[in-house]
Amino acid sequence: MTDIEIHKIKNLISATKNIVIIPHKNPDGDAIGSCMGLGIFLKKLNHKVDIISPNQYPDFLKWMDSNNEIIIFSENENCLDKIINADIIFTLDFNNLVRISTMKEYVEKSNAEIIMIDHHENPDNYADFMYSVPEMSSTCEMIFHFINKLGYKNLIDSSISKCIYAGIMTDTGSFKFPSTTYVTHEVVSTLLKTGISHSEIHNQVYDNNRVERIKLLSFALKKIKVIENFNTCYITLSQKELNKFSYKKGDTEGIVNYGLSIKNIKFAAIFTENSNENIIKISLRSRGSFDVNKFSKEVFGGGGHKNAAGAISKKSLTKTVKYFLEKLNNYKELKYLK
Ligand code: 5GP
Ligand code: MN
Repeated sequence: MTDIEIHKIKNLISATKNIVIIPHKNPDGDAIGSCMGLGIFLKKLNHKVDIISPNQYPDFLKWMDSNNEIIIFSENENCLDKIINADIIFTLDFNNLVRISTMKEYVEKSNAEIIMIDHHENPDNYADFMYSVPEMSSTCEMIFHFINKLGYKNLIDSSISKCIYAGIMTDTGSFKFPSTTYVTHEVVSTLLKTGISHSEIHNQVYDNNRVERIKLLSFALKKIKVIENFNTCYITLSQKELNKFSYKKGDTEGIVNYGLSIKNIKFAAIFTENSNENIIKISLRSRGSFDVNKFSKEVFGGGGHKNAAGAISKKSLTKTVKYFLEKLNNYKELKYLK
């Protein structure tokens, strides 16, 4: 983002505006953290702010600032009005309007200035202002830089810090992914100086599980299939299996990463059936040079990052996995990766 663009945005927010902030569908810690953090910041500047999520978000993210509630989108007058009559719309942690499903149509209808802040590859060209840096650890780190560039770093208090910290922590796998840089740590250091407790945030996100979730994890891990020839492993979870563990949104988050902790495994996948939406949700993770963003795009029309990507399949669970295994044969490099 250029200095001129920052200057224009600063002008844009110099008077009170109706602002809508939107995360991607199935929002994760980075999406919710960035929306919450930016939302609190913009409210401090006296804007009227609404955060509208395309769908429900997991309970382990529901501890962030309670007076900044998130509206779950539905095609009612209230939501449509807010979107269509917004002065500014921020789209956070995604870069293609298909990631917000039915909300897309209304964002396109709106006359609002659209500001994208995102760290995924291959951004689409829908925004008036585009702050897109695929190398960044997280959108939350970018929210920090964005506020800083606007000259308002001193407004970052503990309630904003908590949200931004949570997003950086979750999107970097607790600071272990290669996208974590010294700048990420400098940002975190500044956040910690506002008096937040990093261990409390970690507890809220990771140590607040229902026992059913842990039992589902144990069930999923027992089902893991390893394809040694391709240094690959995968897990499938049908809707029926999920129901046995009183599945709630977010319960399968993170399970895919366990596959990558197996020696020599370079590529891990999880296929989760969602019979409400008639889709299979696919999560892909890799270690090292294997590019799952490319794999996801080529095989399933999805996307994400080099080491973490996702997609959706409209085939049945069995057919999706069969198709995945067939296509895997085209990625022979997996056999030779160290
Ligand atoms: P997750 O597996 O945690 O849902 O997603 C991993 C990464 O891939 C995230 O950065 C997420 O935004 C991206 N991603 C997940 N699902 C999709 C999808 O259906 N399409 C695209 N383009 N990206 C996705
Ligand atoms: Mn992210």
